[in-house]
Amino acid sequence: MNPARRLGRVRRLVVKVGSGLVTTPGAGAAPERIEALAADIAAIREGRRIVLVTSGAIASGTARLKLPERPRSIPEKQAAAAVGQSALMWQYEAAFSRHQVQVGQVLLTAQDISDRARYLNAKNTLLALLKFDVLPIVNENDTVAVEEIKVGDNDNLSALVASLIDADLLVLLTDVDGLYTDDPTVNTRARKLDTVEAVTDEIARLARDRADRISVGGMATKLQAARKAAAAGVPMIIADGREPGVLRRILEGEAVGTYFAPKADRLGARKRWIAFAVPPQGSLTVDAGALAALTQRGKSLLPSGIVEVEGDFASGEVVALLGGAGSKEFARGLVNFDAAELRKIRGAKSQEIEQRLGYKSFDEVIHRDNLVIL
Ligand code: GLU
Repeated sequence: MNPARRLGRVRRLVVKVGSGLVTTPGAGAAPERIEALAADIAAIREGRRIVLVTSGAIASGTARLKLPERPRSIPEKQAAAAVGQSALMWQYEAAFSRHQVQVGQVLLTAQDISDRARYLNAKNTLLALLKFDVLPIVNENDTVAVEEIKVGDNDNLSALVASLIDADLLVLLTDVDGLYTDDPTVNTRARKLDTVEAVTDEIARLARDRADRISVGGMATKLQAARKAAAAGVPMIIADGREPGVLRRILEGEAVGTYFAPKADRLGARKRWIAFAVPPQGSLTVDAGALAALTQRGKSLLPSGIVEVEGDFASGEVVALLGGAGSKEFARGLVNFDAAELRKIRGAKSQEIEQRLGYKSFDEVIHRDNLVIL
């Protein structure tokens, strides 16, 4: 067992497979790959609840429709996804039924995660499927998802799913065996990292992605996923899905791929949702005093510390907090006021709020229980 990898007992596991693994260019869904994956998953299912997040709908549909390359226009992509998703699921059904594993298709959109009620609903559905001993097979609902508000890639989606079901481990299976210090196909001295304790900006810079036509994700989205998983307290491993038995070897503690450590002080489910599930609807720039009060003393945000209000948001929505040198985002939170109200009360002392708005309202702009320092 590798001491740096604190895996513990993995009872709930999310496995994500990339398009490159389950499809072949020009031919679509690759039955032999899907069969190998089903055998690997079936072999580790005993005593575990597993969710599979799969890409490959668009790649598979592109091949089925005999398109020369991945479509660029949105309706064409959505059409390819419709054709490809059912082709993909058909292969999964066939492969898993050989191992007596019942599968169920779950197609999610970004709003299923960003809307609190729908988030809880998606969670309950997944948990019910797991209770029935079904293997949920998740993808983004590419056929109906509106491009601008999509999760966009399944690396991030799988981290959101891992957080949603409180997984003990997230494994991203791809066609490289981990995160390298440089592109190993170009630099022979590139070294694979065994363990990443935290995705620092320096680590994030290692993700120099080649533009690849098959899949959306690359290392950059995998490192975003690692950050989300870490905040949710879920360890994550990137490994080469073409290696037979890779999942079993990971669970046996072999040093396969690159391991990303979870944060010790994991955020609670509600704060995780505030921090990661919802794109901020606007931003508030705060002064140095408010920055220190929020980040060092755990205070709530008051109107007096706000110097600028950007965007058009309603009360109860998530906004980004900017501050310090370069006005970087340092926190997110649920606001008690809408943008127009905040433009009237920014800089005001608490006792001036009523006078400026003409009615009595909250004292805090963001209560500390609704605030997440990033
Ligand atoms: N949902 C997309 C598909 O199934 C893939 C997204 C991704 O590659 O990350 O084609």
